[in-house]
Amino acid sequence: MAKKKTEEYCAFCGRPKAETELLISGMHAQICNHCIDQANLILKEELSGSFDADKFTTEIKKPVEIKEFLDNYVIGQEEAKRVLSVAVYNHYKRITQPFDENEVEIEKSNIVLVGETGTGKTLLAKTIARMLHVPFAIADATVITEAGYVGEDVETILTKLLQAADYNVEAAEKGIVFIDEIDKIARKSDNPSITRDVSGEGVQQALLKLLEGTIVNVPPQGGRKHPEQKLIQVDTKNILFVAGGAFQGIERIIASRMRTNVVGYSFAGVNNENIDKDNLLKYIAPGDIKKFGLIPEIVGRLPILSHLNPLDESALKRILLEPKNALVKQFHKLFEMDDIELTIDDKVLDYIVEKSIEFKLGARGLRSIIEAILMDAMFELPSKKRTKKLNITLNYAEQKLNKASVTKLRVAG
Ligand code: ADP
Repeated sequence: MAKKKTEEYCAFCGRPKAETELLISGMHAQICNHCIDQANLILKEELSGSFDADKFTTEIKKPVEIKEFLDNYVIGQEEAKRVLSVAVYNHYKRITQPFDENEVEIEKSNIVLVGETGTGKTLLAKTIARMLHVPFAIADATVITEAGYVGEDVETILTKLLQAADYNVEAAEKGIVFIDEIDKIARKSDNPSITRDVSGEGVQQALLKLLEGTIVNVPPQGGRKHPEQKLIQVDTKNILFVAGGAFQGIERIIASRMRTNVVGYSFAGVNNENIDKDNLLKYIAPGDIKKFGLIPEIVGRLPILSHLNPLDESALKRILLEPKNALVKQFHKLFEMDDIELTIDDKVLDYIVEKSIEFKLGARGLRSIIEAILMDAMFELPSKKRTKKLNITLNYAEQKLNKASVTKLRVAG
């Protein structure tokens, strides 16, 4: 139907002005906000420089070097760091190998990290991506639903990766995706159920195709709110997926497997008496996460399995002080920018660790507790020209933390 001359509408999509948030007029035509967004994406896609494959290949470090890099940022978790270093090295060796159909094809090995929340799973994946200069995205498995249900489609995981790659598809296709809370989409029992399980198995099936390596049509802006967007094709063959989860209660599965296994002979070289009963996670095997409720196909696509240890007091204290961007270093720097020399008594550090454990905040709580202690000083001192030094004593820290609301800290953690 021909538009009336007097009615204002977008010359690109035909939307009348009333259906747009903004209609910009040119000499002879108008364009709406939707089409501007769309054009912007196309522009980004077309203009983004091609991925610098040479730089990428020469920068692949050997496992020992990868582990050393991780040591700068992640405290403890020796085994997870070693496993991850080897896995990442093999993965990038695999994808940089020129294609030859007569050669042995190395299959992709995605990774699953099991450990309590706040022990460094995300940090490990993020640090690897930082080292490799590859795009990195974090996706939460709990918000993904099967197509057609309320929630996010599995494709939006790749939307995030594309955004992190600034819409450079080639770079995104070599990126790393961390899928958090993979344990939350476990089906409720080991036995496949006849009734459909929207939250669990269906989502696992949807995820499976990404993990396997397939070409996915990705909505560049994500969600279903932008049905008009042009889909971008992304091949997931070379994307490294690292899944993480707490798998609460999996120790029982491990214990029961080990009890049956250790009768009469040693399991995986561990004698019955030598089993570290306080940290059964270190014996985790793929069968355990299957029993927990991940479907066998997903377990098969996450062949590299490692665990993270709970962080004890000494690990938390080291986290405060040692990483390259350790919290204490960050606060020193913040005050230094106002020409104030910050010193924190050692007892205060012990107190922060103790409170973080008491509030059950783990490593995540350290920052909110320091923030609470230093908040007043950060507010007042920049205006006090004559203050050049600030020493935090235990007394000062206790006073400030008591003033702060514990519930607020819990939320922040
Ligand atoms: P999760 O295991 O739940 O993925 P994160 O990796 O997100 O935990 O950890 C939360 C925060 O706690 C990190 O950003 C980091 O500041 C700190 N953290 C946790 N574990 C470690 C660790 N092993 N070494 C250094 N910092 C850590």
